[in-house]
Amino acid sequence: MDLNTVAEVRDAAALDRWRPGDAWLAGGTYLFSEPQPGVTRLLDLASFNWAPLTATDNGLEIAATCTVAELFGFEPPVRWPALQPLIQQCCHAFLASFKIWNVATVGGNLCNALPAGPMISLTAALDGVCTVLTVDGRTRLMPVTELVTGAGTIALAPGDLLRSVTLPGTALGGTTAFRQGSLNTHGRSAALLIGRRDPSGALVLTVTASTVRPVRLSFPTIPDAAMLRAAITATIPDDAYVDDVHGLPEWRRHLTLLFAEEIRRELA
Ligand SMILES: Cc1cc2nc3c(=O)[nH]c(=O)nc-3n(C[C@H](O)[C@H](O)[C@H](O)COP(=O)(O)OP(=O)(O)OC[C@H]3O[C@@H](n4cnc5c(N)ncnc54)[C@H](O)[C@@H]3O)c2cc1C
Repeated sequence: MDLNTVAEVRDAAALDRWRPGDAWLAGGTYLFSEPQPGVTRLLDLASFNWAPLTATDNGLEIAATCTVAELFGFEPPVRWPALQPLIQQCCHAFLASFKIWNVATVGGNLCNALPAGPMISLTAALDGVCTVLTVDGRTRLMPVTELVTGAGTIALAPGDLLRSVTLPGTALGGTTAFRQGSLNTHGRSAALLIGRRDPSGALVLTVTASTVRPVRLSFPTIPDAAMLRAAITATIPDDAYVDDVHGLPEWRRHLTLLFAEEIRRELA
């Protein structure tokens, strides 16, 4: 895609002031795939040279510029045994070739805010907290579940920059269960649910892809089937299910309830 309105590409690290018409450039897999008539300058985030993944005693910090391929290849510390399989399941839900995986970033996936954003699914399910550098020079923290506000919309002001997502260690010590469904084998996710059972016995269920934004439900212990179904029905109104070419809302709701029950049984 030719971006005919872009007059300049600049290192974001050397930027003095963000201005209207600027766009942060991460992997460019979305930016270069569609017309961007309002964009006049691209600010290349690669110039920051942020470490892609940093594991500490408190959790895992994923830089916004970490690519899907880098995340896929990450070998977590043994104290987080469920992390690597879950990362790999979510990366596989990103139905693109290695060419896309090698450049598409975690931050770009979150900021693109597609319902089928698998990095949204992963980080929301593991209580991810975004660090945002605001356009007026502040640092703001917000859960991933609040960053994504709808299909294609996020809670960032123009010029705000997603710096990283931190997965707290408290969310990484449990076991997880993953379910994903699409209309066809290589189709975009129509529903992607992740369950997490913490050492305390609590269950956290995160619904993505079927809904316009991530939905997180938590239970102090494993609920019974009726309680789980009632909680999902009460939390997700019918108009919160996505309606597009990748699946009708009624079918997505059906998949959501089905996968939730499968996850409940698996983690019980
Ligand atoms: C073949 C193919 C398959 C795809 N499959 C999927 C899929 O299954 N699911 C899915 O969700 N997407 C999919 N996409 C869309 C896209 O590739 C992904 O959303 C990707 O993760 C975007 O990341 P990027 O680094 O390339 O972002 P870019 O294209 O560089 O940026 C995307 C948007 O986010 C903004 N942005 C990027 N980084 C930041 C930041 N740190 N702070 C603030 N704003 C930022 C940019 O300005 C831009 O508006 C697919 C694309 C292709 C070409």
